Amino acid sequence: MTAPATTSALDVLHDVFGYEDFRGQQAAIVDQLISGGDAVVLMPTGGGKSLCYQIPALVREGTGIVISPLIALMADQVAALDNLGVRAAYLNSTLDIDEAQDVERRLLDGELDLLYLAPERLVLPRTMQLLERADISLFAIDEAHCVSQWGHDFRSDYLGLGVLADRFPAVPRIALTATATPATHAELTERLQLRNAEHFVASFDRPNITYRIEPKASARSQLISFITTEHPGDSGIVYCLSRRGVEQLAEALVARGIPALPYHAGLPAEVRAEHQARFLREDGLVMVATIAFGMGIDKPDVRFVAHLDLPRSVEGYYQETGRAGRDGLPADAWMVYGLGDVVSQRRLIESGEGDQAHKRRVMAHLDSMLALCETVDCRRVQLLRYFDEESAPCGNCDTCLTPPATWDATVAVQKLLSTVIRLDRERGQRFGSGQVIDVLRGNANDRSRASDHESLSVWGVGADLSEGEWKAVIRQSLARGLLESHGDYGVLVLGPAADAVLRGQTEVSMRVDPVKKSGGSRSGSKRRGGPEVSLDPADSALFEALRSWRAGQAKEQSVPAYVIFPDATIYGIVEAKPTSLESLGQVSGVGLKKLERYGDAVLEVLAAHRG
Ligand code: ADP
Ligand code: ZN
Repeated sequence: MTAPATTSALDVLHDVFGYEDFRGQQAAIVDQLISGGDAVVLMPTGGGKSLCYQIPALVREGTGIVISPLIALMADQVAALDNLGVRAAYLNSTLDIDEAQDVERRLLDGELDLLYLAPERLVLPRTMQLLERADISLFAIDEAHCVSQWGHDFRSDYLGLGVLADRFPAVPRIALTATATPATHAELTERLQLRNAEHFVASFDRPNITYRIEPKASARSQLISFITTEHPGDSGIVYCLSRRGVEQLAEALVARGIPALPYHAGLPAEVRAEHQARFLREDGLVMVATIAFGMGIDKPDVRFVAHLDLPRSVEGYYQETGRAGRDGLPADAWMVYGLGDVVSQRRLIESGEGDQAHKRRVMAHLDSMLALCETVDCRRVQLLRYFDEESAPCGNCDTCLTPPATWDATVAVQKLLSTVIRLDRERGQRFGSGQVIDVLRGNANDRSRASDHESLSVWGVGADLSEGEWKAVIRQSLARGLLESHGDYGVLVLGPAADAVLRGQTEVSMRVDPVKKSGGSRSGSKRRGGPEVSLDPADSALFEALRSWRAGQAKEQSVPAYVIFPDATIYGIVEAKPTSLESLGQVSGVGLKKLERYGDAVLEVLAAHRG
């Protein structure tokens, strides 16, 4: 019986969460679970996955069990539900025996709407027995891509979750993830035994995120200028490849007056937990991190994600950048990348673990990432195509906003390839980019004198381009398979695409690297997607007054600020300037419980502001 179920799901949406309508496929997913079916949900970060199981858990009889690998986040998730008046709890290793027993009792007495569990705990026989005695409304398997052995977030305990199908055949199950490739989708369906599930695949577009990839000159000063000109006082995440890079950069930011914290797997667990908690709770902190940081971080107001090193795959890049702008307000995905990144990533892959087939696969992932960096077309079109989604140029990425100039690089590439060939055939030598550029430009050095490079026919044939321009040509040649780099020194050899260019069968058009000017690229251009957030001065003052009231509440309850109200709701309040509880209750994100708890206080802030 779908109709009454839908009605009460809508009531829950209005009364508990304070939202007007379901978004996208939420309504269909909720119906599927309420009527007892299974679901596989692929939806980007910020798409609204949580409601897809929270609402059915509230509508159906019994307790919804949520399986999540992110123990550190469970307390905040439960606090957020508690603020909405939902009866939620978690069971994990941070509870002592008495606390755990109390949660177990509440489960068995039917006093819980939702219970969060880590997968390692769920598969214990003791937990299985407990669940068999309880009344379960559904199982939600969050971050379901963790079951994929090829993915970057693999958790072996996820493999055990397939047993739920046998042990609880009558309980509906829903698996959710923001990882979108067809391969991951197929794998999780199989391993979690969701063959009879209905599949819901949302568009993976994140229209409020502006994608920008700039050539790397001096990464650190580019980043500092990006943050100080475009995101002063904002929360953001900066990804670096190495632990050392993370620590040095965090220090450098702090020295420049930008509040920043380091996060990587080499830090003691308490330090990591503290830094993560501060990032979630405080406004305006920058987290400098390796990719160890971020999965499941549902901080809605991360305004930028910056990459100072090249990610290994488009999938990883999309996951990481997806942590920006969950609240739907404008956010930036900003990255710098250069020749050195290509060489060092290839070296890491070559010297890494795994057999040749594995390395070829990893190399192919890197090549797709490079193609994204070097594209002269819309970044979003290319990103979405990677996930099998066709789209039109977006108007909200750097190549759309400032279309890159291109030049005919055919002759330059022919000179470059010929130089690599001559050095190899006539001298038996392979070099990295530095020496190749010196030969092209006719710059004598110790090595060229020792091996008499000056008598090569290619000596100095590339004097018309600067060293920087040659680096750009080499970088783009690597990205297109015209060249490959190998070994510790990144020696250059011809790639599979070289032959056709040498024979004059294909022409090569390359992007002109913009002359370095940080921060200027967005001015004047209207950004698509997401609400525009420009407040007039009086409204800004009101916004700040509400945020500071919120900070006080958050501190008192020791929960993150967004648990009280997310920024998007604060904007809604500023816009509506309600003068009664009734009109405050109309603002999106203000449900009954929050109205009861905070309504009078919010109206007081508004009244004081009117003066
Ligand atoms: P995901 O888990 O997919 O990343 P969330 O469940 O955290 O996304 O939702 C992202 C944000 O969107 C949250 O602030 C959430 O409250 C809000 N949201 C979700 N569904 C709706 C809706 N139907 N109407 C308004 N806001 C919504
Ligand atoms: Zn675009």
